[in-house]
Amino acid sequence: MNYSKKIRLLGIVWLLICFLSTGHISGREKEPADTFGIVIHGGAGVIAKKTMNAKNERLYREKLTEALTAGYRILENNGSSVDAVEAAIKVMEDSPLFNSGKGAVFTGEGANELDASIMDGKTLNAGAVAGVRRIKNPVSLARLVMEKSPHVLLVGEGAEAFARQEGMDWVSPDYFFTKRRWKALQKIKAKEKKEKKKTSPGKNALNSIRNEETGKFGTVGAVALDKNGNLAAGTSTGGMMNKKFGRVGDSPVIGAGTYANNKTCAVSATGHGEYFIRSVASYDISALMEYKGLNLREASELVVEKLKKLGGIGGFIAIDGRGNISMPFSSAGMFRGYALKGKKPTVKMYKE
Ligand code: ASP
Repeated sequence: MNYSKKIRLLGIVWLLICFLSTGHISGREKEPADTFGIVIHGGAGVIAKKTMNAKNERLYREKLTEALTAGYRILENNGSSVDAVEAAIKVMEDSPLFNSGKGAVFTGEGANELDASIMDGKTLNAGAVAGVRRIKNPVSLARLVMEKSPHVLLVGEGAEAFARQEGMDWVSPDYFFTKRRWKALQKIKAKEKKEKKKTSPGKNALNSIRNEETGKFGTVGAVALDKNGNLAAGTSTGGMMNKKFGRVGDSPVIGAGTYANNKTCAVSATGHGEYFIRSVASYDISALMEYKGLNLREASELVVEKLKKLGGIGGFIAIDGRGNISMPFSSAGMFRGYALKGKKPTVKMYKE
């Protein structure tokens, strides 16, 4: 074989290798990355080392680790990212430490109204519930909406009727009563009364939906990548304390508080929901990756900055199809953690 023939042959072989390595084989999809993992959050806000005592810090660390482990085990045993996300969120919903499920904050009327959502990045199916008062694990009801109904978002009594039809257990609204949250509501109410004379009613209602107790929001969320390369995301919350008039935040709004797409990433948000809805924040991260070619970190950090400019404080957890993770936030702290293939679970709270 002469020299130019050899060069031509080498060129063809090289082109073939490039073609095969990008997965462009007819009818075959790109191989999933040989990894898996889960990332969770337990809310963003003023979580400062000096205001957190050792006992509480330990309790949060233990519960976050338990949630991570519940999700990780499922992934390790070839379970789906949707299963892992639901399991991790349920652990946090069952704990009074977080503003979701058992530990939900009170509305202005003294009730607990829970919002949750879940999304499957493989199918782009999603389910969500808002304003439910008698469902122990709202994330599981969100999943039922995704899998057993033709709808995406069900609210209030309708959502609860659907839960009953599907055989899901109800709990009494008293189940969600915790002294700590009740006291926090009384405190904010007293302050609201004082301020009433000074401000217009509309402004007052807006100002008072925040967590006066600690300044933290406390919503929970999880995102996961499974061994088959499928992504999922979920979020669950009691919303913002002293919320009124059936207020619903970003957590059950697909694209705002939760988003997952195998093409890009899975995202769960926490923070001042109104800003996240107006910014379609979680979808924005995915869109920046899909249309602008940003990587996960660049996209999620950019959206935190965009929100900050509008006045929206909070953060995200995110994972992409290669197992890269990102956990940016603009608040003082964010309860968060991750468990990636073969590595010990890691939990963080402050800026570190
Ligand atoms: N995003 C939630 C909401 O606005 C609150 C939170 O993240 O803690 O309802």
